[in-house]
Amino acid sequence: EAITVQELANRMAERGADLVKALFKMGSPVTLTQTIDQDTAELLVTEFGHTIKRVSESDIDIDSSSDVDADDTLQPRPPVVTIMGHVDHGKTSLLDAIRGADVVAGEAGGITQHIGAYQVTLPDNSKVTFLDTPGHEAFTEMRARGANVTDIVVLVVAADDGLKPQTVEAINHTKAAGVPMIVAINKIDKPEAKAQRVREELLQHEVIVEDLGGDVQDVEVSAKAKTNLDKLLEALHLQAEILELKANPDRAAEGTVIEAKLDKGRGPLATVLIQRGTLRVGDVFVAGASSGKVRAMIDDKGRQVKEAGPSFPVEVLGLSAVPAAGDPFTVVENEGRAREVAAYRQGVIDRKRTTSAPVSLENMFASHASTTMEFPLVVKADVQGSVEAIVHALNRLSTDEIKVRVLHSGVGAITESDVTLASASGAPIIGFNVRPNAKAREVADRNKVEFRYYDVIYHLTDWAKGAMAGELGPEI
Ligand code: GDP
Repeated sequence: EAITVQELANRMAERGADLVKALFKMGSPVTLTQTIDQDTAELLVTEFGHTIKRVSESDIDIDSSSDVDADDTLQPRPPVVTIMGHVDHGKTSLLDAIRGADVVAGEAGGITQHIGAYQVTLPDNSKVTFLDTPGHEAFTEMRARGANVTDIVVLVVAADDGLKPQTVEAINHTKAAGVPMIVAINKIDKPEAKAQRVREELLQHEVIVEDLGGDVQDVEVSAKAKTNLDKLLEALHLQAEILELKANPDRAAEGTVIEAKLDKGRGPLATVLIQRGTLRVGDVFVAGASSGKVRAMIDDKGRQVKEAGPSFPVEVLGLSAVPAAGDPFTVVENEGRAREVAAYRQGVIDRKRTTSAPVSLENMFASHASTTMEFPLVVKADVQGSVEAIVHALNRLSTDEIKVRVLHSGVGAITESDVTLASASGAPIIGFNVRPNAKAREVADRNKVEFRYYDVIYHLTDWAKGAMAGELGPEI
């Protein structure tokens, strides 16, 4: 895969001349229109302090002609769902209740295995996959690592408690990811449940349910009394149909590691969510920077399976080392190739540790390709009045060319959750009379998230104006 110097410069948002100069210093005199190979391009990207992010594994598969599956190879696949909501609103209870509602769980005679995800079969034989780690932290962490596995978010709101800070966070994280949402209004068995109040509170956060004229489905449920679980599953099925989720099952498998651990008896284990293709026993693969050969696969009901298709979660045995959650999982032709890809990825990981800017090629490319650019921000302040004033002032800076997008705003110290969100979206975090806590600072350090502290609003807007102008660059 070769790229011209100019094209690379565009993607990096750097001046072509500067790239030529750097290349010259590196001992490769080339002109703007000449192509350079992948390795040189990467070296250059790193040199300029950008982070390399692979859009797809095919980037390293130099032989593969095209990595996009043709339309006629695509078949419907089950949706992958993450449950989010405030603590104690019933996320875990709902996950358990839905698992119990699975029509095949009983007849299979299997024993529930907690492998990090599970799949339920509806009476019409359609399926829905649930990720077992609820909450927006895990969701956004995966996203920050480049793994977008969730198709639909179920937002759980307890009808006796209404919207709470983490509910709002979950809404904002979901919106930042552009993932559609279904609201499960839980605990309707309680006498003090007020479902309508929940709908109205959602309205204030621009989540408009169908009854109120919006397009967000909501379902009143009780995880405890197992009320309306079928309706929730139907809503998910419907949303999946709207999304037209499809994948090619007839190709080498690709997926994402959902969970991984070292088992005393069985060695390294990883739960993989297959995203396209079909994984089979005997397949050679790379998972993150480790490789292996599928020795066996076990599903969420404890059954050994011979193959796993799109949206199917399986625990894979046969890894050489423990990968990390969010790592890509790719089947390759042979073990030599697996070692090569694994070594290559290790190199990318090592280089990432030493680079500085949190910008990815993919992000830069995306923002330059669209007509209106976005300037994402996370805003935290000491009091609600300031939060509102700041968000208002920032929104007024939007122009036709670049729009301010406040991904999340709230009162209080900057938390780890704020940092993960910012990191996943390449956004700086503004602290107005507030600072990050220790954990947030640590995560920000690791992910190169920028903090900006202010105590005067117009200082903040001055900075934002300048930064937005900088984003647009001189040529646009
Ligand atoms: P999570 O923190 O969101 O995972 O919430 P949990 O699932 O742990 O539930 C918190 C508490 O709410 C537990 O005591 C549950 O038994 C209770 N709970 C969950 N769902 C319901 C429900 O539908 N009705 C009632 N009455 N209680 C529920």
